[in-house]
Amino acid sequence: MANPLLKVTDLEVLYGDAQAIWNFSFKVDKGAIVALVGSNGAGKTTILKTISGVILPRQGEVAFMGQPLIRRKPEDIVSLGISHVPEGRRLFSKLTVLENLELGAFLQKNPSLREESLKEVFSLFPKLKARTGQPAGSLSGGEQQMLAIGRAIMARPTLLLLDEPSLGLAPLVVKLMFETIQTLNQRGMTIILVEQNVYQTLQIASYVYVLQTGKLTLEGQGTDLLSNPDFQKAYLGMNL
Ligand code: ATP
Repeated sequence: MANPLLKVTDLEVLYGDAQAIWNFSFKVDKGAIVALVGSNGAGKTTILKTISGVILPRQGEVAFMGQPLIRRKPEDIVSLGISHVPEGRRLFSKLTVLENLELGAFLQKNPSLREESLKEVFSLFPKLKARTGQPAGSLSGGEQQMLAIGRAIMARPTLLLLDEPSLGLAPLVVKLMFETIQTLNQRGMTIILVEQNVYQTLQIASYVYVLQTGKLTLEGQGTDLLSNPDFQKAYLGMNL
């Protein structure tokens, strides 16, 4: 078996005295969609922030393509090939769509590669192409989420971290979002997906880790978890 693209080992994260993550280990193989699910406050966002270098863990290791990431600056981690689409999108609402996208490529010095990335984003999200001069804040919720993903793709990542991409979107747009995630994956991107829409997430995930108050409680293939009675009861609201 080839080495995983990302390997997280024995992670412990604290906010002050409060422990958010307890001894958590997981791996992401190249080409996978790995999902982190669990109720509010389970620690999913904390794990993504630790991978992207925003949070320093108390203990543990994060290795990406065999290279240790802990204590590296967030911008170095982007250069290595990891882009993070945070919860709440964090767009620059007064800047245009194009300006937001260009900010995603700020580390890319080669103009022809920047142009290529822009083409890739517009082929994925044609609606953004029609709105390049519009302020990001004037877009619909779904379009803003597409822009946040587009901005992350501008850095040409190998691994994309998606935090609640479907949050607050209308059901039809949620469906489109899940299709987009699959398309990104088919175009070669490895993905870690944090989602509240557990049912849809399990349909597209290659592997799923379930967290409860900072601890790993269950793991398995999406389709296996869907038929697991404990999981159905706890996360799909099914009374068996
Ligand atoms: P959600 O779906 O609500 O975003 P989550 O699974 O992503 O939940 P985290 O946001 O990682 O969970 O939070 C894990 C725990 O850490 C929670 O108990 C939360 O209150 C706490 N926490 C998160 N961020 C901070 C912070 N900046 N300061 C203190 N505690 C925090």
